[in-house]
Order: sequence, then structure tokens, then C-alpha cells
Amino acid sequence: MADSRLDTVGTVAVYAVPMRDRFRGITVREGALLRGPAGWGEFCAFGDYDDAECVPWLACALESARGDWPAPVRDRVPINCTVPVVPPERAREIVAASGCRTAKVKVADPGSSIAEDCDRLAAVRDALGPGGRVRVDANAAWDVDTAFRAIRDLDRAAGGLEYVEQPRRTVEELAEVRRRVDVRIAADESIRRAEDPLKVAVAGAADVAVLKVAPLGGVRRALAVAEACGLPCVVSSAVETSVGLAAGLALAGALPELDFACGLGTLSLLRADVVAEPLCPVDGWLPVPRGAPAPDGALLDAVTADEPTAARWRDRLARVDALIRGSYSAG
Ligand SMILES: [Mg+2]
Repeated sequence: MADSRLDTVGTVAVYAVPMRDRFRGITVREGALLRGPAGWGEFCAFGDYDDAECVPWLACALESARGDWPAPVRDRVPINCTVPVVPPERAREIVAASGCRTAKVKVADPGSSIAEDCDRLAAVRDALGPGGRVRVDANAAWDVDTAFRAIRDLDRAAGGLEYVEQPRRTVEELAEVRRRVDVRIAADESIRRAEDPLKVAVAGAADVAVLKVAPLGGVRRALAVAEACGLPCVVSSAVETSVGLAAGLALAGALPELDFACGLGTLSLLRADVVAEPLCPVDGWLPVPRGAPAPDGALLDAVTADEPTAARWRDRLARVDALIRGSYSAG
């Protein structure tokens, strides 16, 4: 489909934004902003992704630049705050300052014990009060015995968990945990390609699917995936600038049901943004945009990548675009 390809894109701006903390082993987030016939899109597949893995990411950016999002069914989206591995007092401050009613707490870090995770969760519950929701993300770190013990203890410490995200690595392991605990299980790392949510659902591996628009190939494709898998969904970011976050919000805005707060409040992980009105949650909410916001010239100048970096992204875009032409219909 001709209009899904890069030849309709006018401007490519490559950015390099420092991160506040190391994330996925990176300290600078890089990506390309594309201006298409109807707006902007962001292509920011992580550096360790090969060209084939980048195809849905580019499809997502081009969909955004075409202005081709489905109509929203809500005008704002609840957002969770994120509590990293910090002492209880700091966890309390983060939650209170966020204004969010849902907190996602990082657990199972190599540097902290289950007992420390429990203390952090108790502080988060204290800050949220009984009406708040607490979820944990284990990032597939537990072995089988640890998972059962940890989920039991963390659920108790939190005064009830909303769900546990990715307690173990594989779909089979998730299904095994889910059969043996009462707390809901969410699949995140198990969902990176459009077919994954279906596998997770068929295997009975999760109660909730965490969806990211870029690896699923855009808002429309992710919406179809959500419908096909039949699981309640949470929309999360891939740590984009506001341009890319807008696509996640478009998905969250278009899902027929949205029972959980979304992980789209990630702009604070970046030291700078490219738009004049950044998509930072206010009182735990973000608006559903009608299109991706346009970058601001001065803000973009401030984070424009050096020429070798920009050349690397232009080459990557050209290679991934060639793959889209050859093998992928993004329409
Ligand atoms: Mg996760």
C-alpha cells in the first residue's frame, strides 16, 4: 500500500534525549520523527532490534504520520505512576506526588529481597489509601518456587494486588503460575509481536494483556489484537517522546473497555521532550489526542542527534522501509 511507506514522509528528524536513569541498558533514548501527509510519527525501535523486528515500529510511526487513527471512545485515560526499587519513604513520596490512583511497583530486582519489596508495597498502599490500586512488575525474574511465595507475600503486604506483571518468562511458566495463585497475572514481555496475545490467551497464561502500539504495528493493529485475544488490556509505552506516546493514548482511547490504568506516564524518564505541551499526566490522567503533537522547533533543535547518529537512523529507516515494501502490508 503506497501511502504506508516512507516515500510519503517529508521530514525526518533524529533525536537523542538523555534518560534520567539507565533503562534497558541505555542512557540516551534515540529515535526518528517523521512528518507525513497528516502529521507526525515516531520511530524509535531499540538499538538491539534487527530490521525485521523494526517493521511494526515503522508501520506504527507511518500510521501516526498519516493521521490514520480510529475514533476514540473516551477523552482521557487513567495513568499509573511507577515506583522503582527505592526505600519505603521515597516510594510513599513518589506515589503522593503523582496524584495517580494506581501504582506500579517494581519488584524482584536483584538488589532487593522479598521482604524489602513488601516494605515498599506497604508504603505504597499507605500512600494510596484503600481505594487505590497496586500492581507489581517482576520482569520475568522469579523462578517457580519464588514466584508462588513472593506473590503470596506481596499480595498480603500490598493489602491486595491488582495484578502481577510477568512473574516468569515463558507463556507456559505464566500459565503454571496463574493456575496456582489467586492474584491476576498480566503478560508484558510475552507480548512483543501481534500473534503473541493470542498465544497468551489460548494458553490461559494471563488475565490481562499489556499492549504497546509500536511492536504491534500501530493503533489499528493493536486494537484488532486486543479484540482477537479477548483479554482486558493495559496500554504501555516504549519510552517515546510525546509524539510516540500520543499513539499509545490513541489506542487507550479507542479500546472498547479500559478497566486498568495505563503505563503511558513515562515522559518523566526522559530529560527532555520535543513538543511544547508534553504529555505528562495531571492528577493521574492524560488526554486522548486527536493526532500526534508536532515537535517544537527549538525543543527539537536542543535534542537533535549528531550527524553520525542521524545517518545511522536514516540508513535504518531505509532498510526497514524496504522490508515493508517487500513483505508487510501495513494497511
Ligand atoms: Mg512490564
